[in-house]
Amino acid sequence: MSSLKVIEEKKIKPKVSKLDLQWRELRRDPFWQRVPAWKDIDEETFLNYKWQEKNAVTNPKKLIKAVQDIASDEFIKDVEAGFGSAPMAVRISPYLLGLIDWSDPYADPIRRQFLPVASQLEPDHPLLTLDSLHEQADAPVEGLTHRYPDKVLFLALDTCPVYCRFCTRSYAVGLDTDTVEKVQLKANQDRWAQALKYIREREEVEDVVISGGDMYRLKASQVREIGHALLDIPHIRRFRFATKGLAIQPMKILTDTDWTDAITEIVERGRKMHKDVVIHTHFNTPKEITGISQDAMNLLFERGITVRNQAVLQAGVNDTPELMGDLIKKLSYINVQPYYVYMHDLVRGTEDLRTTVRTSIDLEKKLRGTTAGFNIPLFIVDTMGGGGKRDIHSFEHYNQKTGISVYKAPAVKPGFFYYVDPIRTLSPSAQEDWKSPEKQKQMIRDALNDASKYHGRPQIKYF
Ligand SMILES: *Cc1c(COP(=O)(O)O)cnc(C)c1O
Ligand code: SF4
Repeated sequence: MSSLKVIEEKKIKPKVSKLDLQWRELRRDPFWQRVPAWKDIDEETFLNYKWQEKNAVTNPKKLIKAVQDIASDEFIKDVEAGFGSAPMAVRISPYLLGLIDWSDPYADPIRRQFLPVASQLEPDHPLLTLDSLHEQADAPVEGLTHRYPDKVLFLALDTCPVYCRFCTRSYAVGLDTDTVEKVQLKANQDRWAQALKYIREREEVEDVVISGGDMYRLKASQVREIGHALLDIPHIRRFRFATKGLAIQPMKILTDTDWTDAITEIVERGRKMHKDVVIHTHFNTPKEITGISQDAMNLLFERGITVRNQAVLQAGVNDTPELMGDLIKKLSYINVQPYYVYMHDLVRGTEDLRTTVRTSIDLEKKLRGTTAGFNIPLFIVDTMGGGGKRDIHSFEHYNQKTGISVYKAPAVKPGFFYYVDPIRTLSPSAQEDWKSPEKQKQMIRDALNDASKYHGRPQIKYF
């Protein structure tokens, strides 16, 4: 073979044009000034975490006042009606509100996550229950879920810097709304003492997820209190502070220095004790990543703090290879490791955001290989009924006609656990079947029956 031939066959990759790399220039414009009320707010003020807190939009009236001159009347009426029927408290940060494209709020992925519109609401899936993951059933102490052998979930408080439409913990998070009365999980020293006592007595527990609500709303002194108490327990080897904060109010990392120093103090003490303390955050769309997120991440990275991301797969937010690919590349670029992409849980009033198991499988197929393997998230489903998290591909049965998938979780609990695709994605005849309680039972019985016959290869049933 001549050397010329070898060169021809090498198929050298063409150079990527500068235009295709422009996504690396994260936005640094004063985007918030498009909201009329904030047109004179300078960057320094906008970056101040106290200003962000004070100007959080906490009820539909304030929201309408803030955007009435840039959103259409039709949209505003739609949001009012949406909030009227949604089982959630309202809280949205100026950062998010400023990032929404008010010329087309219907399609905007941030709007879709935080502001319900009545015209897009779909009936809930008939199998929905308020605590679909059975977090309360697996809670030995109020606000502490012990489902997996060596790790626990500690819900330290029940408030958040924003309220997401799709919150899995809508059974506890936020104030009572017109349609739901919530379980109370206040930031309360007695409750924390009980949780810590349980963890201390359970030597098998090595790993704690500190969540809520959202620990972004813990005071610096409370971060220190919980952090040091956990580090002091000999068998605790690792824990994560779980917060959506970086995605929805990144400036706090830059300007609430006492808070950021408290996290750093715990991470550094942990490192000296050979214990791993990290942050898990929750970006869902590339639109949430700006120059401010980058500055916040740079600060945390310089301090050696690992940050991982857990996204939720949502229709119209991140359910295409382009959107999810962009999210993964941008997160990796600012040193956030994409860890999980969850199937959307069954949560009241959010059926329009859910997608199918098939969508998740297809995304994984298209995205693996696009960048470092450790930055490709695991696509998972937190199964209904408390089976816990499963690799989306590991079903025993998946019937795309009924939308039912069935999983086993041998390390967690015996038996079968399932997930259901949204009704709107099914054929008209299957949609009819889901209206009949008898047929529902039959479909589930058939799925479980099929799953129990599984030996070696998953059964996929297509239309
Ligand atoms: C998700 C979760 C954890 C942590 O699980 P990882 O797979 O390690 O991220 C722990 N406890 C509960 C109850 C959870 O839901
Ligand atoms: S920040 Fe987290 S806990 Fe709070 S409402 Fe959103 S998803 Fe729920």
